[in-house]
Amino acid sequence: MSRTFPLEKIRNIGIIAHIDAGKTTVTEMILHHTGRTYRVGSVDEGTAVMDWMDQEKERGITITAAATTCQWREHRINIIDTPGHVDFTAEVERSLRVLDGGVVIFDGVAGVEAQSEAVWRQADKYHVPRICFVNKMDRVGANFQHTVDMINERLHSKALPVQIPLGSEKDFRGIIDLVENRVISFPDNGESHSLEEGQSLLAKHRQTLVTSLAELDEEVMLLYLEGEELTVTQIKAAIRRLTISRRAVPVLCGSALRDKGIELLLDAIVDYLPSPLDMPPVSATDPATGQTVLRQASDDEPFTALAFKTVFDPFMGRLVYLRVYSGVARAGAQVLNCSTNKKERLGKLYLMHANRREEIDYADTGSIVATVGLKMTSTGDTLCEPTRPVLLETIRFAEPVLSMAVEPKSKVDQDKLDDALAKLAMEDPTFKVHHDKETGQTLISGMGELHLEVLLERIFREYGIRVNAGRPQVAYKETITVPVESEGRFIRQSGGRGQYGHVWLRIEPAERGSGFEFKDEIRGGVIPKGFVPAIEAGAKAALQIGGPAGYPVIDVKVTVYDGSFHEVDSSDVAFRMAAFMAVRDALDRAKPVILEPIMEVEISTPSEFLGEIIGDLNSRRARIEGIESHGDVCAVRCLVPLAETFGFAGDLRSLSQGRASHTMCFHRYEELPQDLADQIGTRVGKTK
Ligand code: GDP
Repeated sequence: MSRTFPLEKIRNIGIIAHIDAGKTTVTEMILHHTGRTYRVGSVDEGTAVMDWMDQEKERGITITAAATTCQWREHRINIIDTPGHVDFTAEVERSLRVLDGGVVIFDGVAGVEAQSEAVWRQADKYHVPRICFVNKMDRVGANFQHTVDMINERLHSKALPVQIPLGSEKDFRGIIDLVENRVISFPDNGESHSLEEGQSLLAKHRQTLVTSLAELDEEVMLLYLEGEELTVTQIKAAIRRLTISRRAVPVLCGSALRDKGIELLLDAIVDYLPSPLDMPPVSATDPATGQTVLRQASDDEPFTALAFKTVFDPFMGRLVYLRVYSGVARAGAQVLNCSTNKKERLGKLYLMHANRREEIDYADTGSIVATVGLKMTSTGDTLCEPTRPVLLETIRFAEPVLSMAVEPKSKVDQDKLDDALAKLAMEDPTFKVHHDKETGQTLISGMGELHLEVLLERIFREYGIRVNAGRPQVAYKETITVPVESEGRFIRQSGGRGQYGHVWLRIEPAERGSGFEFKDEIRGGVIPKGFVPAIEAGAKAALQIGGPAGYPVIDVKVTVYDGSFHEVDSSDVAFRMAAFMAVRDALDRAKPVILEPIMEVEISTPSEFLGEIIGDLNSRRARIEGIESHGDVCAVRCLVPLAETFGFAGDLRSLSQGRASHTMCFHRYEELPQDLADQIGTRVGKTK
């Protein structure tokens, strides 16, 4: 089977940006220049091709990661659209997982903003090589050097300007390309004097670039020491090496709205970002042996793919997006879902172009395709050749921090609502639905108020159901503060075969954010190995049911170190029960505390409103982490308990005459102050 595109000519990239930095506009322009769209969509008119969900058009934000394919200089570029809003970090995480490289867009006026910092850190976690594009160079206040400095200082990265803007704001009249050694002046303001001025800037900044390359790259250093003039090819190769090894990030500039710098950006994607071949082989686990297996990016390897997104398409039904890491699969082929251990048949395969698709015969290594027909595959599952099962590392998502009761306005819609919620939950792993048997209520949970609001709007728009929503409720958790040891015995003797499970467990506080850890320290076979998974399951179940205040218990380490068994009467069930009882008994003694979710909030406001806003924040138990001012605009960074953030958006609007804006994302769980914990304890009637 011959490939349409050699592997080295594939770029799987994501465009990463703070909301409003211009990600949608840049994507539109890329699609325009690569000839896929015939008319340039405009975000302001709400016609952008990528923002295909109605709601996104209205809100002007991109929520769902749509994948789209285009071509440039005989390369295939697959763009995975990442959301800019941090309330949707699950989307960002999952797209980062399947990308090989990223284009990070900054607003040339605002520079590096808090959300970009958060996403940058996530990209670091997934080792994603990046290039930066400083957009909006035409806006009043745009300052290229300022953003470059911020990349160095706030993001602790080595920024490598490979271009310099010629002029800025209204006078942004060209781009100095330090690599190709040329000055590109825009035709609409191409005055001849700009060329001369450009040439002198070019000479100066090119020297800086070459010196930086010599400092960072040994090959360039050798040439430099020998006094050789570097060729364009050598410079590009050095920048590519530095980008892929993440030792530096090339920085470009332009204005997407004015269509300036987009073709150079496409060149940089091809020249500097990695192909699947440049990435290390993907590591997976052999489910039979638990050993690590490497899969090289090659069509000759066994088929291995990760399902990274599931959506319901109104016309096609369930659509699963796959990233193929190795091998090839034809449409209609049988594959094994190694995560569920079920065989499934791939349906038709498509290359996606936002809301248009192109049917293809097979999915080869490195491609990003959508497929229909997979009924039992959900986000995070590994698909592989049935005879060569492997498990890729699954995508980890944060647990929801906020819930809300919902019911249809009209009782007849209950079934429709259940169906809609189930579909949405399948698409979005940070959105959970829970039916409370005691109260009969349906509870939905997610990552913040905006997240739930957007989902409720989708229920109305896409499924035509009107719902009543209750007050948002914070998802509290509990944890323990001291280690304890605990014995659990589940022994029943009632004639015939009895039940025998007996364990000694050590239950200790674990690091914040670690969730649940389990360790087996059984020596000398006092409990046979085969019962250990049942002990782990029993301990886990006891923590999930909740601590003394009734909330799930997290960040706990459980170690089984002793116990006994009976040749005949011991069973998985008996050990599960014994562990369950041991943990339940331990929780009261381990000095439990209640934890609450803390949000990271960044507010941007004209300085005249700063005092009032700080006053409001103080009344919300906020911890101010920093205040920075750029001109007469202040950025306040703080940590605020989620429970205190309700209504903040509205208050901020009225305090600032609508001129301040804010972003909010989950930070971590922290201990709830004692007086508030007591109030909650009284409310649930379970005071310690
Ligand atoms: P996203 O939220 O990152 O997808 O950003 P959008 O592409 O929706 O852009 C946000 C706003 O900035 C829109 O009003 C765009 O028209 C505007 N915008 C995007 N690029 C530029 C640019 O280069 N210059 C100027 N002046 N405005 C821009």
